[in-house]
Amino acid sequence: MNHVVLTGDRPTGPLHLGHYFGSLANRVELQHVHPMFVLVADYQVITDRDLPGEIQRNTTELLLDYLAIGLDPAKVTIFQHSAIPELNQLLLPFLSLVSTAELQRNPTVKDEILHSSQSAVSGLMLTYPVHQAADILFCKGTLVPVGKDQLPHVEVTRLVARRFNERYGRVFPVPEAMMGAQPQLRGLDGGKMSKSRGNSIPLKATADETAALIRRAVTDADRRITFDEEARPGVAGLLTLAGLCLGRPPYEIAEKIGDGGAARLKAVTTDAVNDFLRPIRARRAELDEADARAVLRAGNGRARERAVRTLDEVRRAMGF
Ligand code: ATP
Ligand code: MG
Repeated sequence: MNHVVLTGDRPTGPLHLGHYFGSLANRVELQHVHPMFVLVADYQVITDRDLPGEIQRNTTELLLDYLAIGLDPAKVTIFQHSAIPELNQLLLPFLSLVSTAELQRNPTVKDEILHSSQSAVSGLMLTYPVHQAADILFCKGTLVPVGKDQLPHVEVTRLVARRFNERYGRVFPVPEAMMGAQPQLRGLDGGKMSKSRGNSIPLKATADETAALIRRAVTDADRRITFDEEARPGVAGLLTLAGLCLGRPPYEIAEKIGDGGAARLKAVTTDAVNDFLRPIRARRAELDEADARAVLRAGNGRARERAVRTLDEVRRAMGF
C-alpha cells in the first residue's frame, strides 16, 4: 500500500522516551518506505496554556531531537503550523462537519482539561482535534504514527474526511492510526509520561541527569520485584522502560531482579536507558542549530506547496 505518513509533536519541551516508543521509532522505520510529513505543532501549544512560552527555543530543540533520533531531512518534510496559513484555513470547513457534542465527549480532551493549569477551557482546547484533522488531511495523510492518547483524535479526522467526502465529493482519504511498541509509556510517577507533567526522561538528558531522574521515580517498599500494572504502576513503568531499552519483556526483567528491591530495579533501568540513549546523544552532540533551522525552512516551503494545492481542491469541491 502506498501511504503518506503524517504525525507531529507540540514544541512544549524536549522529546522523551514515551515519544520514542509511542511514535518516533515507527517514524524512523517508515521514512524509508513512504513519503512523510512531520509537524511541529506550534499553534497547539496554546491549547492548554496562556502563552506559547519559549517557542523558538523549544522548536529548535524539537528539530535537534528529530535529527538525533535519525529522521532524515532528505526524506521527511518537517514543517510548522504557523508557517502554513493554507493548512490552518482547512479548519473552517472542517469545524462545520462536527457537532459540539462530539467535541465535548473526546476522552483525551477531557483528560487534558483535568490536567490543565488554565481556569477556563478555551475554544481551542475543544477544537484542536479538528485542527489535527487539517494537519493530517492537508497532505492527504493515510497513516498516522501516534501514541494511545491520539486515537480519539484520529477518529475525529476519519469522521471529518468521511463527512467532507459525503457532502462535497471525494477529496480525502480516510487515514489510520499506527501505534508503537508502547502506546502509553508510564512516566516516573506512574502516570502517562508527558513533557508537561514533569515525569519524563528526555532523549537529550545526560547519563547523570537520567540517573538522577530515575532515582526519584515513584516505586514501593516491596523488595520482591514483580510486573503488575494495576497494583504497582511505578514499578511496572520502570520494568517496561528497561524492557523496551533492552528489547526484553518486562516480566523477564522482574524475574532477573528478583528480591533486589527498588534500588536494584532503578540501577538496572538506569543502565538500560543510558545504553539505549548513548548513540542518540552522540548524534545530537554533532548537530548544528543553524542547520536544524534550515531544515525547517525547507520543510515549510514544501509543506506550503502541498497545502495550497489541497486548499484549492477543497474550495473547488465546495463550489467557492
Ligand atoms: P504535552 O505534555 O505537552 O502534551 P506530550 O508528552 O503529551 O506533551 P505530545 O507532543 O502531546 O507530547 O505528543 C506527541 C506524540 O507522542 C503523540 O503522538 C503522542 O500520542 C505521543 N506520546 C506522548 N506521550 C506518550 C507516552 N507516554 N507514550 C507513548 N506515546 C506518547
Ligand atoms: Mg500531549
